[in-house]
Amino acid sequence: MNVPASVPNWSVPDVFEPDGTEELPPELTSNADSSPASLTVESPGGSKQRDLGNGAAVSGSGPTAGGVERRVGKGSGAAKSTGTATAGNRTDVEPADLSTLLSVAVEAVGGSERDGQTAMAEAVDNAIASGEHLAVQAGTGTGKSLAYLVPAIRHAVTAHTTVVVSTATIALQRQLVDRDLPRLADALADSLGRRPTFAILKGRRNYLCLNRIHGNAPDEPDEGALFDAFAASSLEREVRRVHDWASDTETGDRDELVPGVSERAWRQVSVTGNECLGAHRCPVGSDCFAEQARNEAGRADIVVTNHALLAIDALDDRPVLPEHDMVVVDEAHDLVDRVTTAAGGELSGNAIKQAARKCGRAVEEEIADRLNEAGEGLEFVLGETEPGRLGEPSRQLAAALSGLRDAAAACVNALGPEQREDVESGSARKLALAPTQEIQDTAIRLLDAFEEPEQDRRDVIWISAENNRPPSLKVAPLGVGGLLRERLFGQRTTVLTSATLALGGSFDTLASQWGLPPQREARPATDTATAQEPTSDESEPSWVGLDVGSPFDYPRSGILYVARHLPKPGRDGLPDAYLDELTELVTAAGGRTLGLFSSMRAARQASEQLRERLSTPVLCQGEDSTSQLVDSFAKDPATSLFGTLSLWQGVDVPGQSLQLVVMDRIPFPRPDDPLASARQQAISARGGNGFITVAGTHAALLLAQGAGRLLRSAGDRGVIAILDPRLSTARYGGFLRASLPPFWNTESPDVVRGALRRLDEAAG
Ligand code: SF4
Repeated sequence: MNVPASVPNWSVPDVFEPDGTEELPPELTSNADSSPASLTVESPGGSKQRDLGNGAAVSGSGPTAGGVERRVGKGSGAAKSTGTATAGNRTDVEPADLSTLLSVAVEAVGGSERDGQTAMAEAVDNAIASGEHLAVQAGTGTGKSLAYLVPAIRHAVTAHTTVVVSTATIALQRQLVDRDLPRLADALADSLGRRPTFAILKGRRNYLCLNRIHGNAPDEPDEGALFDAFAASSLEREVRRVHDWASDTETGDRDELVPGVSERAWRQVSVTGNECLGAHRCPVGSDCFAEQARNEAGRADIVVTNHALLAIDALDDRPVLPEHDMVVVDEAHDLVDRVTTAAGGELSGNAIKQAARKCGRAVEEEIADRLNEAGEGLEFVLGETEPGRLGEPSRQLAAALSGLRDAAAACVNALGPEQREDVESGSARKLALAPTQEIQDTAIRLLDAFEEPEQDRRDVIWISAENNRPPSLKVAPLGVGGLLRERLFGQRTTVLTSATLALGGSFDTLASQWGLPPQREARPATDTATAQEPTSDESEPSWVGLDVGSPFDYPRSGILYVARHLPKPGRDGLPDAYLDELTELVTAAGGRTLGLFSSMRAARQASEQLRERLSTPVLCQGEDSTSQLVDSFAKDPATSLFGTLSLWQGVDVPGQSLQLVVMDRIPFPRPDDPLASARQQAISARGGNGFITVAGTHAALLLAQGAGRLLRSAGDRGVIAILDPRLSTARYGGFLRASLPPFWNTESPDVVRGALRRLDEAAG
């Protein structure tokens, strides 16, 4: 992706017109139709004209800009559609071709055709036909969900198969199931010969368990409620509310319970896949919500799920998703993190003691007590050990783990295999067996990993003590590329898409984390944690990368400002110079600022300081629910909102309430982050650039996601301000900047403040 050094041949904008002393800013008019006087500017290289055509760019070439259309389906009030899948009625009608279907679909959602969307739909169709995997970067406004759903639906209907669409966030899952798919199903029915069907499928824990509601299984032991009368009564109230809801709900889906209930209350009324009795044994199996969702998914053309379930389906020998021959991974930039979490394990004193209490209901007291003591032993050792990554375990830790493994094994043996028992005993046995088996498996995994020298391990082990929680022992795979290559790409055609996939202008960095080979022969392989696995045999999955750009005209709509004159960020909070800079920027913008900070500490410090200095309101994450804060921010243009990670990816505020995005520092992972540091070292040990491959990739993804908050609709204009000067001065700065959309660049505080003031005045 290219960041233009200057913007030739632009028109001097009305609201953004600089005075004679300023470096020329881009056209940031609030009305794209305004016709300001025209001015031609030479770029440093002497070329005069930028060329932003509408054609799609294959792999690594810069994004394209073109006419911006209304985003697909915006504002639809389509009805809830979970459960729309009906028995797989197949059609004998020859379905219309892709371009006809796409036109029908676009017209139905009130949009107009876009080149990037068409290019993406054709590429997805080609991937289906050729079996070659596809990675496609599609910027905001492309209408990418339509671009993959239309060919996926056509394929499912014509090949009598199911396509799985996986998302990272609930927000996108809802958009697909509540808005995009119902509209598409209606619009495409005639052209396909029948109405396509779709369903949503989540992990079993997300559905109400009727067996528990009917009182056939014991309650979860809850330590908080055991000693605290207030906690006990609030838990009781929540569980009672779920019971009332159980008789009304048609899906049993936790996300439909409004307001929601706490995690500990939900645990009382749900089970994991391993805790479930099995529909054949369960007395209410025929009415089970999770089973209904599975059955419905099995009959649907499109099944929407999340990355966690996709990962479990890949990891587990028992499939949890219905038979399918194609997967679309949307929000694919999050895939590696989600799969890493799903493939990880954790041991904590509390979880072990809970499992022991469950075992106490089904096995001899002495055996359950042994597990409880082993949990206390591990808890003590973890409390005595410094949090962080573990190379060699201490003698005490190794002994505590061996004791735990044996105590868990004794419980598992005592619980025994499935028997001819009554439902209550069977439920109690299952509820005890599932967590105890997991404890045993995790203890064995850890002990096995400790047997190997650290540099040869495929697992990273660390003690975590985040947010003042009691310490726990965690394990996660060093890389998930091998798993994905074998269990995802090796099984079915996969399309990966996101607004951010080409980091530093290339797909290869993320591709190597997914276990895919480099795209082009000429390009040296990007060495990652997964590169230790062989990648050059004939069985390598082949794939294509495609960047369809964005209909947004980035260089004319946004400025990337790097505060090069500021000092490097330090460890002791935000320096005064940062707070001064922030104050001036927010003042010039008249509020309208989303502050994305690398820590909550920095976000709070900035909020407190700026409230004293500014006349406009500042909200800080944590002061209310995030959705409420974003709502208040969107409603009042003078208001600014400061926060950390969840705001980097989750804010969608089009219009004049958001014209400035400030980031305090390049969001590298913490140097003591156990997984990131282990991955970095593994790559460096093999001669690769561990810092860029791991820390650089992490930062590039977050920077691009954060910058993506600025332009959300065609008329949006504004500034991305990075206070960290290393984006300009450090060697890796070029890689990071090339991962961002091609905004117009400046390092001049005067230019950027002038631009913000003009935007503020224009907004009124
Ligand atoms: S089948 Fe499993 S999840 Fe469904 S009601 Fe029975 S125990 Fe609960």
